[in-house]
Amino acid sequence: MPAEFVEVSFPIPLNKTFHYRAQGGSTGCRVLAPFGPKKNLVGYVVGRMSEKPSFPTKEIVRWIDAEPFLDESLLDLARWVSDRYLCSLGEALACIVPPALEAPKRPLKNPSTPHPTPSPPPPLQPGRSAKATVAERGEGIRLTPEQKRALEPLLAAVESRTFRAFLVRGITDSGKTELYLRAIDQVLAQGRQALYLLPEIALTPPFLKVLQERYGADHVALWHSGMSGGQRYQTWTAVRKGEIQVLLGARSAVFAPFPNLGLLVLDEEHEPSYKQEDRPRYHTREVALKRAESSSALLVMGSATPSLESYWKAKQGIYQLLELTSRVEQKSLPSVELIDRRPPKISSSPAASGRGPMDPRQGHSGMTAKNRSSVFSVFSEPLKLAIEQRLARREQVMLFVNRRGFTPFLRCSKCGWVSRCDRCSTTMTVHHGEPPSMQCHGCSKRVPVVIQCPSCRSMRLHQYGIGTQKVEEELKKLFPFLKVARLDRDIASQRKMHEKIYTSFLSGELDVLVGTQMIAKGFNFPRVTLVGVVDADVGLHLPDFRSAERTFDLLTQVAGRTGRGDSKGKVLVQTQHPEHYALQCAREHDYPRFYDQEIRDRERLNYPPFCRLINIVMRAAKEPFAHEAAEMLAEKLGSIDERMTILGPAPAPYSRLRAQFRYQVVVKGSAETFGPCLDFLRRYRPAKAFMTVDVDPADLL
Ligand SMILES: [Zn+2]
Ligand SMILES: [Zn+2]
Repeated sequence: MPAEFVEVSFPIPLNKTFHYRAQGGSTGCRVLAPFGPKKNLVGYVVGRMSEKPSFPTKEIVRWIDAEPFLDESLLDLARWVSDRYLCSLGEALACIVPPALEAPKRPLKNPSTPHPTPSPPPPLQPGRSAKATVAERGEGIRLTPEQKRALEPLLAAVESRTFRAFLVRGITDSGKTELYLRAIDQVLAQGRQALYLLPEIALTPPFLKVLQERYGADHVALWHSGMSGGQRYQTWTAVRKGEIQVLLGARSAVFAPFPNLGLLVLDEEHEPSYKQEDRPRYHTREVALKRAESSSALLVMGSATPSLESYWKAKQGIYQLLELTSRVEQKSLPSVELIDRRPPKISSSPAASGRGPMDPRQGHSGMTAKNRSSVFSVFSEPLKLAIEQRLARREQVMLFVNRRGFTPFLRCSKCGWVSRCDRCSTTMTVHHGEPPSMQCHGCSKRVPVVIQCPSCRSMRLHQYGIGTQKVEEELKKLFPFLKVARLDRDIASQRKMHEKIYTSFLSGELDVLVGTQMIAKGFNFPRVTLVGVVDADVGLHLPDFRSAERTFDLLTQVAGRTGRGDSKGKVLVQTQHPEHYALQCAREHDYPRFYDQEIRDRERLNYPPFCRLINIVMRAAKEPFAHEAAEMLAEKLGSIDERMTILGPAPAPYSRLRAQFRYQVVVKGSAETFGPCLDFLRRYRPAKAFMTVDVDPADLL
């Protein structure tokens, strides 16, 4: 038999293929092949040739797959991801066929159910609870006139079997899910498959239940990156064989090998977690669009607060817009009140120096003790009163602050020293616990809390700002008999705790739940009649063009947590910027107005959707290396195409992280101008720094 040669791509950040001698096998299969001096690596065969290459070749160790794992369409998808997000073909292929994917040594029990439930996260209840939806289905859900109007074009598009993209903007509880399910019904009736994407695994359990009850447990499967290799193998193969008709999953499910895809649902399409943070830094929405297009399928994106980009595209007619503006059971939206937490104006304050007396870094000599304590207390009078009233009526309260820990920093009021991480540019957050500690939220470093200023030896260290622990503690001081629990990443890392807190809050054992954005998503507690946003300003002034959008989304989401039962809900938002349009629009539940204002700013300042961005960070242990690398890159990029705008170099918002200095260059351009720029970046290797390239970044932080 003549020697045959294969072209192999490896999941390494080197965009290059390698040639080996190999007998048999075919394109799309995986091989184990020698790489470098002693290692064997798993690679993907992306091509074959019968002619011997002009250079010496090694032989593969063995074929891993008997049949090709990747067909031409998946290979195409990998090429597209590699081109668009600047990763190697092998890295893109690794998304599609995760390295852990191998036939289980022994067949798993009950092979007909390819989704042995992975250790279930707590049963969060997105939107209307699974139980309600199923119960209502039993009675046959009658669609509202609005739902009917929205469904018509969806079903017509399914019938046409052509690529179409829809954006559904529907306020919370407006019945978006029912639309998706009806479209799935129709797609399955055509003998095609459907993919249902959610931004987080924690949100999947109730949806899985709904889908399994509707379509049969054998035809529905769950997919996420936390599953074991064996589970993934089974699900992957079942999807490819067409045995799975509906796949539910987070981000990585978008790469599942559907032979006959008819519909993709992208729920909560605005969620930043749809963007992958590590290489390849793909956006699930863009991959979903690509897949829908190449499969002549339908993409349905849904949200109460669509991303600015998507809504703009819908307004331009690039996506078809469907809007649901009333709640299915005619429940009114909760009333949202803003509580002004600006410090009172005091004539003797050092205003002449141009400093705001509220800035904790500036001191506050002009304030009376009483003013100071009221301004720095966690709870304003109206919020305190509202909590008290709810508790008296045996109703429940959720308190939200998007920052974990006790206080975000310590400061010496004598010399101005601030607790900072010695490896990062961030402050050390004080965490209460046994023992109390200061933690860096950038690199997770922990040190004991200092009681004496390390700089001037004074004992005058003060804590500033509010974290979840402080809210919990203050609440216990105010209402000693209250049953309160806290849910943030510190707690959620203890798995059982997460579930325990969820269940006891749902059953009414707890009165108040304090938490970070973790409690903003998907929870459905009918007894919650008050949501307090303790500090709405945490994310408002981040140096990022999406900070207003994120704040608006978060407040809308938080507001959606109340008034889900029979009583009307109320939301109290404490802020020092009550005039800010993101807060004003959230108060009015006015997405269109927020959109109008925000899109004008984006256009004026030329940010997406009016341009595309590439965020490049150069990092090095020595500051001059990172700085010089960024300078040099900016200069080179500047000469590629004068239609592109190059911002920077400038220190990145996290100017130091894990003992590395970081400099940032941001490129603004368009699809046309990006081609040559990406080609350049693909080949570019900075001399003394590491380079990270993020195409279409979710943020610039
Ligand atoms: Zn000091
Ligand atoms: Zn750190």
